[in-house]
Amino acid sequence: MTIQLPNKLGVHALVWVGGWTHEECREAIKNTVEAGYDLIEIPALDPSLIDVEHTKKTLEEFGIKAACSLGLSFDADINNEDLEVVKRGEAKLMAALDVVAGIGGDYLGGVLFSALGKYSHPATKVSWANAAASLKKLAIAAQAKGITIGLEPVNRYESNLINTIDQAVEMIKDIGEPNVKVHIDIYHMNIEEQDLSSPIINNAEHIGYVHIGASHRGGLGTGNVDFDELFGALAKINYKGVITFESFSSAIVHPDLSLALAIWRNLWTENKPMALNARKYMVEHIIRANKL
Ligand code: MN
Repeated sequence: MTIQLPNKLGVHALVWVGGWTHEECREAIKNTVEAGYDLIEIPALDPSLIDVEHTKKTLEEFGIKAACSLGLSFDADINNEDLEVVKRGEAKLMAALDVVAGIGGDYLGGVLFSALGKYSHPATKVSWANAAASLKKLAIAAQAKGITIGLEPVNRYESNLINTIDQAVEMIKDIGEPNVKVHIDIYHMNIEEQDLSSPIINNAEHIGYVHIGASHRGGLGTGNVDFDELFGALAKINYKGVITFESFSSAIVHPDLSLALAIWRNLWTENKPMALNARKYMVEHIIRANKL
């Protein structure tokens, strides 16, 4: 008898490939399926680089779904007081939304609320309000396409706007649309939260997507994060959504994302055994946490 897991397991495309040519798209989706994952997360920092038709066809061929994620850039940032910069950020978010819809996906998440990178100043009331207004437009457009929007709190070196789950929930309340959720990431939680369970339990109804990664972004089972605490919290709130494994190494370089995430070191070279092991690690923890 196979055990029915409560969660779909995803893997980030950067485990497999650095770009999204037709060949890279095929390789990433094929490897995702062969490693036993249910979903691939495709970075859409530049939505124009994704051939939507080809991606959709390839996903269908292999029988899996994709989610998309991105972080904005400083010249196209809704977390800004300059409305021209905000407008460019909004346009990028709308383009990414079209990609998600075009490839048959139902999820767009990540650092949608700000640039992905270190700010040299704190966020302001005005930049927060601008981000909230843009995200409201995005959420409303997403509703018509059946797409959920996920806000991923990231550490202070990657955004000045939303670093904690509580802050993400505050933003969700300001946006006031039902299809906006918190996209949690244990790597960032490990840096910014008080602990790895109480923010999840206290904000249970808002948790919509989960990123799992080691404390140094390497393979699972290495690093210093207490995964039992995290999976225990997810089981406690009866979380039934996607859990996606994220890992980055200088072995595979995305022209924008790897630099923004400061991936300077080689944490693995062989992605296939690393991805297989990560899935096994997640399955074991989910089974244990849920007493399956
Ligand atoms: Mn993440």
